[in-house]
Order: sequence, then C-alpha cells, then structure tokens
Amino acid sequence: MNFETKLLHGGISEDPYTGATSIPIYMASTFHQTKIGESKYEYSRSGNPTREAVESLIADLEGGTQGFAFASGSAAIDTVFSMFSAGDDFIVGNDVYGGTFRLIDTVLKRFGMTFSVVDTRDLAAVEAAIKPTTKAIYLETPTNPLLRVTDIQAVADLAHKHDLLSIIDNTFSSPYVQRPLELGVDIVLHSASKYLGGHSDVIAGVIVTKDDQLGEKIGYLQNAIGGILAPQESWLLQRGMKTLALRMRAHLANAQAVFNYLSDQPAVAKIYYPGDPENPDYEIAKKQMHHGFGAMISFELQPGLDPKKFVENLKIVTLAESLGALESLIEIPALMTHGAIPREIRLKNGIKDELIRLSIGVEDEQDLLADLDRGFKALQGSEKYAANTASHPEA
Ligand SMILES: *Cc1c(COP(=O)(O)O)cnc(C)c1O
Repeated sequence: MNFETKLLHGGISEDPYTGATSIPIYMASTFHQTKIGESKYEYSRSGNPTREAVESLIADLEGGTQGFAFASGSAAIDTVFSMFSAGDDFIVGNDVYGGTFRLIDTVLKRFGMTFSVVDTRDLAAVEAAIKPTTKAIYLETPTNPLLRVTDIQAVADLAHKHDLLSIIDNTFSSPYVQRPLELGVDIVLHSASKYLGGHSDVIAGVIVTKDDQLGEKIGYLQNAIGGILAPQESWLLQRGMKTLALRMRAHLANAQAVFNYLSDQPAVAKIYYPGDPENPDYEIAKKQMHHGFGAMISFELQPGLDPKKFVENLKIVTLAESLGALESLIEIPALMTHGAIPREIRLKNGIKDELIRLSIGVEDEQDLLADLDRGFKALQGSEKYAANTASHPEA
C-alpha cells in the first residue's frame, strides 16, 4: 500500500464490530473479561480500541512495529527518556524544541541523567561527544527555528556503530515528508498537535518503534506512567491524519511559493528554508525529505527593521505560536517561542531579534502573498527598530 492509501486503509481503519468506516469513540474505562487473562482489552490505560486504531495507523505510516499515543508530544518525549536510568548520558541536538530542553534541564537532570549538547549536523562532533555512559542520540531535523538539517542515515549509522539508540523528533516534517525509521533510526516521535492532527484542535503525541523489543519497552512504560491519549482525542487525531497527504501537498506547494516571494524582497536579509538551493543543508534535505522540504520557513528582516510591525499588520497569517496547522501561523522567536532563552545565548545560537518564523498553511497562494505584502508595506518608512529593547519575557 502506498502512503496516501495507508492514511485511509492502514492500521485499524474500520470498526471490526460494526464495519463503521470511522472508528467509534470507545468511552470505556474497563472491559468485561469473559475468561481471565484472555481479554484483548482490560482497562483503558493499558489499551483502548480507539487509541489502538490511531496507534496502529501511525506505526504503519512511519514503517515501525508498534505505535503509541500520548496526551501530548511532551508526554511522549518524557516516556522515551524513562527507558533510561540515572548515570546515563545522551547526545542531544543543540536546538531541540524548547519544551524538550526544559524537560532535560529542569527535570531529567535532577534524576541523574547527563546531556551533551551538540550540533548534530557535525558528525565528528557527535562522535567526539560519545562517552562510556552514552546511551542514545536524540535530535530533531529540521530544527526550530533555523531549519537546520542533520543527515539522519549518517547519525543512525554512527549510533549503531557505537551501540547507541537513535531517537528522532519528526514533528516538523510529518511522515509524509520524512520517515526516519526507514533510514535506520530506532525510535521516532511526534508532537501530533502539529501536522499529524493538523487542525489546531488537539494536543497529542506519538511514538513509533523500529522493532518489537523497543515496542515492548515503550508499551510497558506507557502503561506504567499512564500519559495516554484519551478516546475522544484519539478519534480526533485519526480523523485529522486521514487528510495528511492532501494537506501536506498544499502546505508544501505554498511553502515553495512563499520562499520564491521572500527571495525577491529587499527587506529580507536572510531566509532559512531547507529547499533553498543555496542552503548548506540543501543536498542532505533533498536526500531524506520527500515531496518537498517541509512548510516551515524562517527569515530575518534587514537589521533594524521591526518584526513586530511586520507580523501585527497581517490579516490572514495568524500571529500565534505552534505550527503545522491548516491556517498559516507567524511568530517572532525572540519574543515568543524562544523568549525564555537569555538574549546572549539566543544570539549565539543564531536567533536574531529580526527573525520571523512562518508555518505556511493551505490558504490560497495569492491571498497569502498579498498578506505578506501588507507586512512589507508596513515596514516602509518605519523608524529603525531598537533591536535590543524588545520586551521579551527574559528567563
Ligand atoms: C510542539 C512540539 C513538541 C511538544 O509537543 P506538545 O504536543 O506541545 O507537548 C515537541 N517537539 C516539537 C518539535 C514540537 O514542535
């Protein structure tokens, strides 16, 4: 079955009891056990038919053995790290999602895990960071907000060579664009609140494992920790996922159009998009991303131009955090998603005050470009922006 067919017919795609083509929402906490120890379902934390449907679907889409659904992407990430113990070390990408960094820095470190933060594009640096206690390499590609691309297969090979697990947060691409398990990665996870759900109406997370042994471990922890996705949300997520390919096609085409448009704007100093042939990561992106290069684009305005003026003058593109929604979303990392990072560290990581991040939606292309035009018009004749006086929530 091809990917687009799997979205509709993969996993458990209809109710085995009634044949309903939409899986029912099984609002049940417990199940009648006709014979002790032989029931398919016992208690909904351990297993629920609606959740199982969406779990089997994501396993199919990522090409893994088992799928697991959680109450959020963050709960999924915490469950993955719960496979490990005090004293274990991890190599982590240097611009992982802010919430992942927070989990590592303020929670997991207290439990005695240690972390080496590395630009995972630099394979020599990754290899040099491996210690006797290192257990896994954890990364995102493309990253947030600078859309840096790591060679997935190369990292997976390196991990295997050193007997480490490789774990990838695939949120920014979705399995339509990128399937890390096919490139040798052991565990892939998502914030399904983004492209998988797609409609800005559900918070969810998923994990897919490469083999049964890892699947058993994650399944055990999912039940032991209990951060499961509820039946209503499981249904909503599965419904959203059915249109993933249709949505992604529109997202990807619009992203390419927005990139072309931004390339001609004199007010734009720099564009971050893996599909830019001048981007140093372009060849790797082309090798491992399918159909397109994702629908996230970041760009810097010329030094001194006020990004607030730009984003606040848009009428269609919505000023909001998050990404992967049908509607286009825009934000200023320095003031919003990355506002908690002290300015010096932020600048050192390449996130300038003038940086704007766009999650490109599925609106009509001409309407989108006309809206961006509104933003650029608002910048004309504007006062120079005092870049370092931005009122971002420091720390
Ligand atoms: C949003 C996000 C998360 C966290 O997911 P939640 O569903 O918000 O808990 C993790 N990783 C990435 C890349 C994200 O964008």
